[in-house]
Amino acid sequence: AKDFTGKVAFVTGAASGIGEAVATQLAERGAKVVVADLKLDAANRVVEAIKAKGGEAAAVAVDVGDAAQVEKAVQFATDTFGKLDLAVNNAGIGGAAAPLGDYTLEDWHKVIDVNLNSVFYSMKYEIAAMLKSGGGAIVNMASILGSVAFPNAPAYVAAKHGVVGMTKSAAIDYAKKGIRVTAVGPGFIDTPLLQGMPQEAYDGLVAIHPVGRLGKAEEVAALTLFLLSDAASNITGSYHLVDGGYVAQ
Ligand code: NAD
Repeated sequence: AKDFTGKVAFVTGAASGIGEAVATQLAERGAKVVVADLKLDAANRVVEAIKAKGGEAAAVAVDVGDAAQVEKAVQFATDTFGKLDLAVNNAGIGGAAAPLGDYTLEDWHKVIDVNLNSVFYSMKYEIAAMLKSGGGAIVNMASILGSVAFPNAPAYVAAKHGVVGMTKSAAIDYAKKGIRVTAVGPGFIDTPLLQGMPQEAYDGLVAIHPVGRLGKAEEVAALTLFLLSDAASNITGSYHLVDGGYVAQ
């Protein structure tokens, strides 16, 4: 169903993995999509693929860890398509692997900038645009590591827990203004984020999911689109897992 017809969507980290799947599915269902990413060439390829299937999209370069660039990218969305209805704050990085005492200040700040500060910058400017557009819906891409820990990932775990908290905070502040804000918590998903990992480590990730496989970007996108849709009209401030049973065990 073309249930997003007439809607304008802004998706960060949309040149790869989960963000690409979200942007593609939104365009298939009628939304005009801004594909925002650090990698403009890859973002342009996603836009071309959407257009080849009859959809509408535009690419913009952004480093989500830089507030001024995020402000400009959201401005690009409203300049290009006239308003903003939907946003998916999805760009993120894995970051260095080390226990807290060995985590460098540089690695800490990088992960917090790209995975946590980015969500504040994004929501700040998206909400301003949505208030002018009469409301909207925002999904923040957290992780299972927004509710449980994982070895050697102090910054990532802190950032994703922070994203879940920020989601709740924004949701209650804007609930009466017609803006819904939710978070999605994927288990480990087979995307380029996990590439370059030794086979043994990959197999280990598969083994710790009760379903016995990693998730797919399309499965995360399906939940995200539900939360953005009018079918989710009474859902706000909540955090939704798509994790093959990971957190349940
Ligand atoms: P991915 O690496 O396939 O895609 C991430 C995209 O974000 C890339 O296109 C990259 O260029 C972009 N990006 C990175 N840094 C950026 C920056 N500073 N500014 C703008 N764009 C930037 O990763 P993915 O697996 O699709 O992850 C997407 C989101 O899902 C991330 O927030 C990640 O933490 C989260 N997540 C992923 C998994 C997983 O196992 N893959 C699990 C849980 C949550």
